[in-house]
Amino acid sequence: MKKRFLLFSIGLILVSVVITSVISINVNINNFISEKENEMLTYCRLINMALIEEYESGTEVDYVEVAKDFSDEMRIRLTFIDMKGNVLADSTEGADYVKMENHLGREEVTEAILTGSGESSRKSSTLGGEFLYVADTLEYQGDKVLIARIALEIDRLRIINDFIVKTSLISALVGIAAAAVIAVAYTATLMKPINEMQKQLKKTMEENKKAEKIRKDFVANVTHELKTPLTSISGFVETLQDGAAEDPEVRTKFLDIIAIEAARLKRLIEDILIISDIENKREFNTDSDINVRESIEEILASMVPIMEARQVKVLTYYAYEIYIGGNPDRFKQLMVNLIENAVKYSHDGGTVTIRAERKEGKVSISVKDEGIGIPEESLPRIFERFYRVDKSRSQKAGGTGLGLAIVKHIAALFEAEVKVESEPGKGSTFTVIFQ
Ligand code: ADP
Repeated sequence: MKKRFLLFSIGLILVSVVITSVISINVNINNFISEKENEMLTYCRLINMALIEEYESGTEVDYVEVAKDFSDEMRIRLTFIDMKGNVLADSTEGADYVKMENHLGREEVTEAILTGSGESSRKSSTLGGEFLYVADTLEYQGDKVLIARIALEIDRLRIINDFIVKTSLISALVGIAAAAVIAVAYTATLMKPINEMQKQLKKTMEENKKAEKIRKDFVANVTHELKTPLTSISGFVETLQDGAAEDPEVRTKFLDIIAIEAARLKRLIEDILIISDIENKREFNTDSDINVRESIEEILASMVPIMEARQVKVLTYYAYEIYIGGNPDRFKQLMVNLIENAVKYSHDGGTVTIRAERKEGKVSISVKDEGIGIPEESLPRIFERFYRVDKSRSQKAGGTGLGLAIVKHIAALFEAEVKVESEPGKGSTFTVIFQ
């Protein structure tokens, strides 16, 4: 982030430096030209002063000679023009000056005749290239005698100027482009966490909405599930109070029903409390080494009566000693629910097979039955609270519809994965894979 900011700043600095230098180069070139003009005017005046000295000494002035001498010395082109515009001498043309056209129309000459001095820059019709011309009128004893004119080639200056301006402009553009790219990239990196936060927020809001709906549905379901046994209990109690208690046979029958319904109510409340405890993260005794074999054997011992009632045989396979870390009570709850379901949904005399083994460094515990199986379309829903494939069968078997929801909750606590494979009429296999 810091590095990018640095790059961005450098880009900005680069752009401003280039822009400033373009402006200053232009200003410099213009200053340079006007300085040159002043300098050339001074030269003209000095040359004219030298000529005055010549006049005063009374010698005949050879303008061609003078032009040549000054030109050689000062490396300039010098032209003398009389007040009618005729060329008297020209350092570049030498003896050919006579062939040169009348210079009256030249801007600097006209200006010099009118004001004493003049300047102009233009293409030279004699030499071609662009020149800067400065002219000064020589006055001797009150008469305007001639005009001394100096020409300086400014083409090269302009070319250099153009080149500098062009390269500066190109570098400015490149600088701006680079700064823009850096700025875009920098903004993108700045925006990235903001966008991610936005996405996260949206996801959290959606999750909250979903959780709220699940909670509301759960409350509605719980109320309904609790109401059913309670209505039944109070109905039978009322009937008993209304005289049915007089008949011992009816009384026993009704009391048995009341006992069954009360037991169901108790199981339901216990299961709801387990889910609520896990959801509210009320976890105790969380980090022990659980001996998988011992734990499962204890469960099986406590389940002998229901296994015998259904004549269901349970086979176990343990790959030597397997331990997993976590809350032993929760582990037992998970296994009880899976084994109970396997027994509940087995056919009488069926077989349930429990396997605990290590697979690819993970502990895999599977509970397989050869019972009624689960239709494919119900498979994604069986872990939902109160979902039952066949409600009456579940109720007859004493199910609360919360067993697998508890399994899912406990598996999440253990960071374990629960898989189910099932075929109606052939049986089901629930596998829990612990990391
Ligand atoms: P329940 O108390 O009704 O058994 P569960 O949450 O334990 O509730 O299971 C949800 C539903 O999944 C059950 O009603 C049953 O239809 C189906 N199910 C669960 N385990 C098995 C199994 N081993 N064989 C067939 N169906 C099963």
